Amino acid sequence: MPADLVIRNLKVSVAGEPILRGINLEIKQGEIHALMGPNGSGKSTLSYALMGHPKYQIDDGEVFLDGENVLSMPADERAQKGLFLAFQYPTTIPGVTLANFLRSAVSSVRRARGELSTQMSETGARRETLMPMREFRKEITQTMKDLEIDMSFARRYLNEGFSGGEKKRVEILQLAMLQPKFAILDETDSGLDIDALRIVAEGINKLIGPNLGALVITHYQRLLNYIQPHYVHILLDGQIVESGGPELAHELEAKGYDWVRAKYAAPVS
Ligand code: ADP
Ligand code: MG
Repeated sequence: MPADLVIRNLKVSVAGEPILRGINLEIKQGEIHALMGPNGSGKSTLSYALMGHPKYQIDDGEVFLDGENVLSMPADERAQKGLFLAFQYPTTIPGVTLANFLRSAVSSVRRARGELSTQMSETGARRETLMPMREFRKEITQTMKDLEIDMSFARRYLNEGFSGGEKKRVEILQLAMLQPKFAILDETDSGLDIDALRIVAEGINKLIGPNLGALVITHYQRLLNYIQPHYVHILLDGQIVESGGPELAHELEAKGYDWVRAKYAAPVS
């Protein structure tokens, strides 16, 4: 049975300001959903709320991953249960290389899945069982090769001096290594040139299959030339106002967002 991610009547405010006004969305493993909307409509707010960012206040609603309430879980537990949020780890962490970071993140998820036995601890400490170095190295090398990421990246400090395109590629590397059930990918709009976009999209396409459900958040239709969504949703002023198939994205490409605003914009109060 495929797992599902169910968002029900989610209301979120930021700095006391209501932003999301009742989001309903259901994603099954194997389905690709695109969430589109003009700037400021609340797309990133949805991703931050799902990752449990403290600035994003949940006012109402529920989020279930396979029937379990996600909103009451700490962020690391959300990851362990199979939820991947693209900018879960956006900050520079001095002294932590990408490889070290990934080894610890992957180990944590696999421990939770029972895929790492406790005897493998290198230090003898029970709680921090890491994936054996040799096995990890083999896996990361192969994955980086598949994603055409330069090997030198593994030794760089996390996000330090990474360009926008490099960060995106590293996100996809994390995604490939963590093998989540659901991925929320917030396309941080700017900064991706056409080559970076293609590489990121190809990387995502390689991971798409019956085991991955994805919510691809994007302002522009162009990403969807590479990633074919099964469903497209339009967010406006914190509400999903239209849902449909891929044709909806093409309509936005052709007509922009004005018709959506004209049709749904809340009357000025
Ligand atoms: P989108 O990703 O669709 O462009 P956002 O979710 O980033 O939209 O923003 C939605 C609204 O919430 C905007 O009006 C924005 O100013 C506000 N907002 C988002 N994050 C914050 C924040 N951390 N502090 C203050 N306001 C915020
Ligand atoms: Mg955004």
